[in-house]
Amino acid sequence: MTGRDRDTPEGKRACVIGAGFGGLALAIRLQAAGVATTVIEARDKPGGLAYSWKKDGFTFDAGPTAITDPACLRELWQLTGHDMAADVELLPVSPFCRFNWPDGTTFDYSNDEAQMRREIARLDPADIAGYDAFLGYAAAAHREGYVRLASEPFLDFTNMVKVAPALTKLQAWRSVHDMVGKFIGNDKLRQALSFQTLLVGGNPLTASAIYTLIHKLELDGGVWCARGGTNRLVAAMVRQFERLGGELRLHDPVVRIETERHRASEVVTHSGWREPFDAIASNADVVHTYHDLLGGTPRGRVMGRRLMKKRFSPSVFVVHFGIEGHWPGIPHHMILFGPRYEGLLEDIHVNGVLPADFAIYLHHPTVTDPSLAPDGMSTFYALVPVAHMGKLALDWNQVGQLLEKRILDEIERRLIPDIHDRIVAKLHYAPRDFALDLNAYLGSAFSLEPTLGQSGYFRPHNRDDVLANLYLVGAGTHPGAGLPGVIAGAKATAGLMLRDLAR
Ligand SMILES: Cc1cc2nc3c(=O)[nH]c(=O)nc-3n(C[C@H](O)[C@H](O)[C@H](O)COP(=O)(O)OP(=O)(O)OC[C@H]3O[C@@H](n4cnc5c(N)ncnc54)[C@H](O)[C@@H]3O)c2cc1C
Repeated sequence: MTGRDRDTPEGKRACVIGAGFGGLALAIRLQAAGVATTVIEARDKPGGLAYSWKKDGFTFDAGPTAITDPACLRELWQLTGHDMAADVELLPVSPFCRFNWPDGTTFDYSNDEAQMRREIARLDPADIAGYDAFLGYAAAAHREGYVRLASEPFLDFTNMVKVAPALTKLQAWRSVHDMVGKFIGNDKLRQALSFQTLLVGGNPLTASAIYTLIHKLELDGGVWCARGGTNRLVAAMVRQFERLGGELRLHDPVVRIETERHRASEVVTHSGWREPFDAIASNADVVHTYHDLLGGTPRGRVMGRRLMKKRFSPSVFVVHFGIEGHWPGIPHHMILFGPRYEGLLEDIHVNGVLPADFAIYLHHPTVTDPSLAPDGMSTFYALVPVAHMGKLALDWNQVGQLLEKRILDEIERRLIPDIHDRIVAKLHYAPRDFALDLNAYLGSAFSLEPTLGQSGYFRPHNRDDVLANLYLVGAGTHPGAGLPGVIAGAKATAGLMLRDLAR
């Protein structure tokens, strides 16, 4: 069957470069609307940052672990009258997260209102009233920043002018940490309620207070995981895309996007496969897209240079390990804070040093879903944010082993005695791997940093300003990183593409 045989009645064909969550969500929307869509993925498996490994009977999900706003995912099935639950089962995670400090203090964060009040009162009863006021602020930020604007493309400056009054009212120039501090006095609670910004690549000390919307998103929609791991959610999206007739080509990186005058005309892959399309969307890293894939064109060179001057989010270092034993006392998501908070964030986001201390995000999926490990064993990953490769030039082949040991030692000291003797399987993933495996510029794990000056109109646009049929989807375009972000962004990009293709 040739590409042309797969044409829709309108004869429109689209290509999506990259099978990350954003690329797959966009592809489903296009295919559901009758546009014959081909997704081309460089790696041997779809998912992008949500790649996965099987090792010695353990399933290790590489990236996203907390699924929030499941409604935005369900919509991808509802478009065609299908039921997401038939393809993947989502399991609720409770508490959402346990925060733990070196002095032994813990704080369980959930959407059980009474439980939250008890937890806040345990740390500081004086903060209960402040928390109520903070919830009001987070709800307003969610309404403006997510419900109203996340799925709207910001193609021209007038969009920005229109939202300015709302941003002013929300004092969007203030940082998440500053805004939380306006309502909450206890230092530990301030950390627990501002930490979420890190999960979209933002620095709580500088990211716009609008990102407190994550709190509201989690309270309303819950925190979920997919049975069998996030990789099963990726597989389910592929199933939905393929049942609608979409085509997924794996293990064949795109090496070039050809252009003709002001249009993207053709996609060329490493294997020599080339194909013309009516519309081309890139889910690949934005710098890679412009600098490498469009590097032979004036537009690619200009945009590539411009993007390289922007601020990029940090990277992360992740140790995946499978160990003997069950650990019912360790919740699904846990943050082990270190002795410093602000200083540590400065070291990672600004100073670009590898600090002696760290905050660890510990993921323990087998406490919810034992199928991810062999009988009697448990699966974990421990993640620490680290500066990206532009700020911190290290030989990760050497440093990786040392950092892995330091992280495991800390977990041994605080949670799992004899961890080194219990480990059955392990691997680690460093900034260099993000750069090599995913073409992520500087090894950043979240693309452009989510600052006010790099959001909305100031983020690379969902449709290119010059190449009329070239589009972006994923963490580098509006609204930004995180599953709800890239899924909402896919809706914005799909809206533009479908309108343009219908002309
Ligand atoms: C460790 C980690 C944990 C995270 N945890 C969470 C979480 O719990 N919850 C949450 O909501 N978010 C989380 N995030 C953020 C979230 O995972 C990402 O923002 C999101 O997955 C990014 O999706 P994307 O669509 O931008 O595509 P990506 O995942 O970046 O995928 C892009 C795809 O493009 C492909 N590609 C690149 N170049 C080419 C080429 N030349 N040709 C063809 N294909 C190419 C890549 O191989 C890749 O598959 C986490 C991120 C990390 C790194």
